[in-house]
Amino acid sequence: MPQDSNRKTVLDPFGTSVVADYERLYKEFGIEPFKPLLSRMPNPSMYIRRGIIFGHRDFDRILNAMRKHEEFAVLSGIKPTGEFHLGTLMTAKEIIYFQQQGAQTFYCIADVEAYEDNKIPFEKSEKTAVDNVADMLALGLDPKRAYIYRQSKEIRVKDLAIIFGRAATLATMKAIYGERHIGLYLSALIQAGDILLPQLEDFGGPKPTVIPVGIDQDPHIRFTRDLAQRFQRKYKFILPSSTLHKLMKGLDGSPKMSKRQMNYFTLHDEPETIAERISNAFTGGRATIKEQRKLGGVPEICPIYENCLFHFVEDDDKIIKTYHDCKTGTLLCGEHKKQTIDIVLKFVKEHRRKKKKFRGKAREILQEKQ
Ligand code: SF4
Repeated sequence: MPQDSNRKTVLDPFGTSVVADYERLYKEFGIEPFKPLLSRMPNPSMYIRRGIIFGHRDFDRILNAMRKHEEFAVLSGIKPTGEFHLGTLMTAKEIIYFQQQGAQTFYCIADVEAYEDNKIPFEKSEKTAVDNVADMLALGLDPKRAYIYRQSKEIRVKDLAIIFGRAATLATMKAIYGERHIGLYLSALIQAGDILLPQLEDFGGPKPTVIPVGIDQDPHIRFTRDLAQRFQRKYKFILPSSTLHKLMKGLDGSPKMSKRQMNYFTLHDEPETIAERISNAFTGGRATIKEQRKLGGVPEICPIYENCLFHFVEDDDKIIKTYHDCKTGTLLCGEHKKQTIDIVLKFVKEHRRKKKKFRGKAREILQEKQ
């Protein structure tokens, strides 16, 4: 496993990742901090402004392209394993953000990875993919300016995986991904193909490409950058860049959202389920109201605050006020949970209304790719 147990950092795209301290990743993995770039960003997204995107690899290249209005691409993939939850929502919004900043856009439905990692048959993931694409369209992806594809149907990606396979030894795969079945190594090679797809001649040739992902996916980025270097002479690849976002906690305060623990909600859950999960969530509150009024809460460890920060309170002044009110004991957890339930349910209702209109279009897009 790619793990240093002494320092307790685990970055495992196929398992559970644990990040005890994001600051340490700069040194441990050679990730660059995003903060120094912030003042040069023409139109920073909420994730960038709030430090949720905390790191990058070679993002300067993308920033220069954005500032000079030059060609660049964005690509990211989402596994069609189920309905969108708040983790997938983050990647989805990042793809859409870069599209709105002028990127040539690629949305990869990672059905090979869903098969290899989650044992989801292609017939099942095809149905989920339609639902996920409808989500993307409802969130604002412009399908006319996006290449949307399933890994299992994209021959160019599979061809690249075959070619890259010649440069990947078992020892390399084990060092990056740990001891895994061959299918997962194959899916990693296919993901390298995805990441470099925008640079093929069919899509206009080499160009700066940003891959927005959660930090747990960084091993794929490192692996692909290495392959891009090895095949540089043949394809003239420009090393892909990435933005790296923090991972969301479960509503029970555990480091990962998990189906088994039912510690998160999806955009499809019934309003009652969403309200119940938020009501029962762990918080950074104190044992008694009196204590909380006196000492204030701890928003840094609170999943309710994290939900608001990552997704549901878009106004920066409002989120600063929430933080302050929690810290000073002005805001209490019961009241804050109620407010959060209202905001989340409003968002979900509106999202579903929009999504309904896009189901037909989503089906059409995926049928074209058969
Ligand atoms: S007041 Fe809100 S942010 Fe603060 S600990 Fe309670 S739920 Fe979390």
